[in-house]
Amino acid sequence: MQTTFTDAQRQDPDIQLADDILRACVHCGFCLATCPTYTLWGNELDSPRGRIYQIKDMLETGQGATPEIATHMDRCLSCFACVTTCPSGVDYKHLSDLARERIEADNPRGLKDRLMRSLFAFMLTSPLRFRMALALAPLARPFEGRLPRPLRTALGLAPDSVPRRSAARPGVYRAQGKRKMRVALLAGCVQQVLGDRAHAATLRLLTRHGVEVVMAGDAGCCGALDQHMGRAERAAGHARRNIAAWLALEGGGLDAVVVNASGCGTVVKDYAYLLRHDERHLPAAGRVATLAKDITEVAAMLDLTPAVETGQVVAYHSACSMQHGQKITTGPMDLLASLGFDVRTVPEGHLCCGSAGTYNLLQPDAAQDLKVRKLANINSLEPEIIATGNIGCQMQLNDGAAAPIVHTVELLDWATGGPKPF
Ligand code: SF4
Ligand code: SF4
Repeated sequence: MQTTFTDAQRQDPDIQLADDILRACVHCGFCLATCPTYTLWGNELDSPRGRIYQIKDMLETGQGATPEIATHMDRCLSCFACVTTCPSGVDYKHLSDLARERIEADNPRGLKDRLMRSLFAFMLTSPLRFRMALALAPLARPFEGRLPRPLRTALGLAPDSVPRRSAARPGVYRAQGKRKMRVALLAGCVQQVLGDRAHAATLRLLTRHGVEVVMAGDAGCCGALDQHMGRAERAAGHARRNIAAWLALEGGGLDAVVVNASGCGTVVKDYAYLLRHDERHLPAAGRVATLAKDITEVAAMLDLTPAVETGQVVAYHSACSMQHGQKITTGPMDLLASLGFDVRTVPEGHLCCGSAGTYNLLQPDAAQDLKVRKLANINSLEPEIIATGNIGCQMQLNDGAAAPIVHTVELLDWATGGPKPF
């Protein structure tokens, strides 16, 4: 793609990066076929190629973000199916990050939209605030009909009661037997409140197989939710805090930073990008990015052997952040199959389930359409269990699934001697 940035514009490293990305696009349109929003609406403006053109226009003219580009970028799930499909290697992920930052800075959205985004960014990125919001949810239910749509959707997704406090507290979880590895485990924010079963299974699986796990008290939200909303500086703040907490553990040996929510793992593995303007923290960000591993990547290094008879039909839902964000495709399925599960891949597996960070709250109609389509595809397999590696997908698909939805690590734990998760 030809671009017309001036030399003065290219002095800005972000513009230079955008220019490099834009020039790689040959506008072939292959990416359209796998884009969920283009699949839903057939509108070029809601396709990867259409968005690329709009971003190019916004950055080249330098006239600021319009409400129109904000609308089309807000409808993008950041699922990155387009990145997997693109034969030219166009880095739409970072291009869309740059666009979201610009839109956030230029502030073209209406007041209600801005308030909702600020509220979710405030509420969801702290386990304490999220717990408080869940505790207050029953008080809001009688007024549900009068609430703005995103809040109604959030209420619909909220559990009936506040989950008990996480079993995965800050501290050191000793390896059983001879220690083979020492890792840090990301507690996360939403994951810490709603994904406790996955944390507990991760701790059991790792310690039982000779891995010492440290949960650093200072580490928390990975920054994904803020980054998804274009709030790059807030996301970078989360990254700096986590990096400091994890690298402080290196003195005792640190083999990996384990993440068991693939949405978070995608961002932690990209911390060097997030801190690209922060020369002081950039080397440490790069170090953490290389240490970051999805739990299934670490599990594959362990000698997992079946302790119970399995054989159940498992529909494996590969989260977008797992398959497109981290390029982890067959690994989790191979692990499950090696432990005796009958693993089936979901038809149209490249299409997002509609969860996508806060997407299901801020774009509820599109998210609902994608959820219905995903559930139909999953249920067509007549599974006995549904497995996935991302808490957001679990929450999104919980209602309407034909079988219990569990985190992949819960099955790995059960099959190798842990409790049955359903
Ligand atoms: S597939 Fe890649 S090169 Fe082709 S239009 Fe899409 S982004 Fe551009
Ligand atoms: S990230 Fe997903 S929704 Fe956004 S343009 Fe790419 S394929 Fe479409």
